[in-house]
Amino acid sequence: MTETARGFEIPPVPRNAIGPRVPARGYLVEEITGGVHWVTDGGYQCAFVVHDHGVVAVDAPPSLGGLVTRAIRDVTDKPITHVVYTHYHGDHIGSVNQFPDDAVRVAQQETHSMLCEHSDPLRRLPDVTFKDSYRLEVGGQVIDLHYKGSNHAPGNSFVHLPRQRILMLVDVIYPGWVPFTNIAQSKNIPGFMAHHDHALSFDFDTMITGHLTRLGTREDIEIQREYMHDVRDAARHALEITPLKRELARDTVGLDHIYVYFKTMYEAAAAEASKPLLEKWSGRLAGVETLGVNHTLTMYHSLRLDENAEPQVVFFPPTETV
Ligand SMILES: [Zn+2]
Repeated sequence: MTETARGFEIPPVPRNAIGPRVPARGYLVEEITGGVHWVTDGGYQCAFVVHDHGVVAVDAPPSLGGLVTRAIRDVTDKPITHVVYTHYHGDHIGSVNQFPDDAVRVAQQETHSMLCEHSDPLRRLPDVTFKDSYRLEVGGQVIDLHYKGSNHAPGNSFVHLPRQRILMLVDVIYPGWVPFTNIAQSKNIPGFMAHHDHALSFDFDTMITGHLTRLGTREDIEIQREYMHDVRDAARHALEITPLKRELARDTVGLDHIYVYFKTMYEAAAAEASKPLLEKWSGRLAGVETLGVNHTLTMYHSLRLDENAEPQVVFFPPTETV
């Protein structure tokens, strides 16, 4: 633990969670192989593919802003012909308006629906949409898009480059780190869980994950899958001990303020049930000390609501015998 000036302890970051150094100009651009490049500022990632007569860009996070175009121009002066949206979230495609108007935008149809709902001039609607899969074959490159159902967000799709054996899936896998808060802000936790296996079903060696410090591997997915199953076990245990925590909450904060009562009960159950999770993963995946309990609590509510796994608990026991 590192003690900061304010006395707050910062857990160590394992070596496996540290990526390449980002140059002082604010971005790193590297060719992975066969014309496929990744661009990162050390926290966000996007990609582009150079083909015979142009460039296909995949996402453009506002954190990188115009640096995405600059990174492309470091590599080639060919025109940007296509833009692929992995999903509708502003933090990944909020800067796509830096690309030329005549570049063809491609996205899954749920992404189109979500963008229609939000009507944001910075995120132009896609010109081409697909339901399950779409092959973009251009200038000697093949880019396959696949949708396997809702996960982190509706429409969040795989971008697979079969020739280069590269897979891109954003906001699901966090190489070297545990997923972001509320299990990566997922709209669909069971779908998020299933995407570990969906990802491993593709033929690839290298993964672009949209976040954090480095590229990913198949092993990163296997490790995160194991972590997520441990989170699920912790959440199941938290459900089991909820009746005990109900007694604790009733005795300490009472029933009058219902939100305080439930918050006390849920947080006490999650904190106790997360202890083995934190012990096992501390030092293996960065961030478990910070977000492990939050993940257990998020999974707890998914088990309650998505899977009806809550034991029968009387939250408000009658005060008098009928
Ligand atoms: Zn997202």
